[in-house]
Amino acid sequence: MSQREFDLIQRYFRQAVSPAADLPVGIGDDGAVVLAGNTNLAWVMDTINEDVHFPHDAPGAAVGHRALAVNLSDMVAMGAQPRWMLLSLCLPEVDEAWLADFSDGLLSLARDSGVTLAGGDTTRGPLSVAVTLLGPLHGQAVQRSGARPGDRLLVSGTLGDARAGLDIALGDGHAADAVESELLKRYLYPQARLALSPLLARHARAAIDLSDGLVGDLTHLLSASGVGATIHSQRLPRSRALMAHAEEESDALALSGGDDYEILCAVAPEAVETLVREAAAEGIMLSDIGEITQGPELTVLDRDGQPVPLEAGFSHFGDDDA
Ligand SMILES: [Mg+2]
Repeated sequence: MSQREFDLIQRYFRQAVSPAADLPVGIGDDGAVVLAGNTNLAWVMDTINEDVHFPHDAPGAAVGHRALAVNLSDMVAMGAQPRWMLLSLCLPEVDEAWLADFSDGLLSLARDSGVTLAGGDTTRGPLSVAVTLLGPLHGQAVQRSGARPGDRLLVSGTLGDARAGLDIALGDGHAADAVESELLKRYLYPQARLALSPLLARHARAAIDLSDGLVGDLTHLLSASGVGATIHSQRLPRSRALMAHAEEESDALALSGGDDYEILCAVAPEAVETLVREAAAEGIMLSDIGEITQGPELTVLDRDGQPVPLEAGFSHFGDDDA
């Protein structure tokens, strides 16, 4: 979400939501939480549009996969278990081969994630896919607003790979070698960190998923929590593929490249060791990249301990409205 989109939501929609007992979490987080009977359910929705969130020649399976994966990632950031899906599919024409490929990408990820397609809608128009997911919380809702000074900032996996992969996709779309093929896959088939969801519910104070890039999404978490942060660029986790492909740009890609769908969380110092160990047991690497401060500034320090000037956050395809 760009800053402009964020401001528009604040201006025109936020006032419509007043705190209510049956809406513990409303607008302004990765998802809402509704109280239905005795159960807190997380509820998320994300839309992807052709030529904004994916290139027009992306494989159908990759579009189907992405439409669900970006929503799974929001459920993880809330500490929820995705369970039911609604799908709204807007198609310019009926292309059965494309649809078979698309549904294969969507439904195989749904199967692997324990998600059932419960219904939806199809319409005619420019290619656009909206998915809604609903499911129970693993425990307390993990919100963006819970970070406190002194918390450590942890991030899952590696950063910057998807942005490097997007450049390959926007080129001729073909990987020249194994390194490019790995980066392209990171962009086309993002993997939501589902196994992290119950661990965040137990150990994290705040979390957000990284869709728009570390700096932009961290800024959302900091402003929701009313805190600042100091992070260290040399601690940002980078894959071997990224270093082989674009070592010189790797700082910038890791700081502001979008589409990684990794999880950023704030964790009390005494909970870090347990969380890191439990995540490792699930095959997920967590890296400590810095700490929450009184704020409100975000400071990024380079290898020599000097502050890095921060550019505006990444936006998809360079479009501020994406
Ligand atoms: Mg999100």
